[in-house]
Amino acid sequence: MSLRSSPERSDRKKELLRDDGPDLQDFISGELSEKNKWAEYKGTLKRQKGERLRLPPWLKTEIPIGKNYNRLKNTLRDLNLHTVCEEARCPNIGECWGGGEYATATATIMLMGDTCTRGCRFCSVKTARQPPPLDPDEPYNTAKAIAAWGLDYVVLTSVDRDDIADGGAEHFAKTVTNLKERNPQILVECLTPDFRGDLAAVEKIALSGLDVYAHNVETVRELQRHVRDPRANFDQSLSVLKHAKKVKPTVLTKTSIMLGLGETDQQIISTMTGLREAEVDCLTLGQYMQPTKRHLKVEEYVTPERFAHWEKVGSDMGFTYTASGPLVRSSYKAGEK
Ligand code: SF4
Repeated sequence: MSLRSSPERSDRKKELLRDDGPDLQDFISGELSEKNKWAEYKGTLKRQKGERLRLPPWLKTEIPIGKNYNRLKNTLRDLNLHTVCEEARCPNIGECWGGGEYATATATIMLMGDTCTRGCRFCSVKTARQPPPLDPDEPYNTAKAIAAWGLDYVVLTSVDRDDIADGGAEHFAKTVTNLKERNPQILVECLTPDFRGDLAAVEKIALSGLDVYAHNVETVRELQRHVRDPRANFDQSLSVLKHAKKVKPTVLTKTSIMLGLGETDQQIISTMTGLREAEVDCLTLGQYMQPTKRHLKVEEYVTPERFAHWEKVGSDMGFTYTASGPLVRSSYKAGEK
């Protein structure tokens, strides 16, 4: 059955579209309409050996940090919760090495601490074999805090916790259940780890009452080994997304790809085809940004026009929505388009 033509799916989409939360534009003061200037940009966009690319103008936007941001940050600190900057999965939200030049659009809460058991080469989250134990109060505290903010859409994500038997799936699911109990209206997206392919863990979260099940493949199939921790791979990630859909067909599934890591057009197309075959509903494509000098270099700055091209390709392929742009981050919420 085509996902696009399903009445259930279109109701779901309408429901999401009704969501009148802030959109990306609310967070970006830079004028995206300065396109004409960008077209004249003469800087190098593809990296040559030994070279480091300069940031092109379409990525130089300012993030207004308002009082809501401060209020949010204070509650998080009080409750010992973590936010994550989707720029580079970096917990130093708004304090990035690039001087806060880019946008972080959605309230994204990172569960299970700030230390990951994996070490992907694009991600600046702290790594340890044995991170501190889970805080058993976190599901309750998180639900309480989010309900108090009055948000209507939230993304819950986490580091990978390969040190815990179920990878933290129960902890994740409890957070969603608590949150939905307090606020049944809130739309919840969970951006989960791959749980080493443990489908029982995926199922626990998919059935927890969430609205969007997100798991990122991060890059094209061919670059998985180069970009992600060796314990991750494309097929394992695909199995997570497929299983979430299988056990809860009304849930929207979502994934993200970073561009600018050296992938070819053909590789992007076949990755998108694979995702569609796995019935993934939503796709985001954004520019990879190097978080620190120790991380993978940007191989290419993809132009806004090229991102628009991929958005069209995604729509033509039948994704319920495709969000594609230099500043689009994986937490870009389903329902903004
Ligand atoms: S699994 Fe990789 S991308 Fe995810 S938090 Fe850990 S190091 Fe970062």
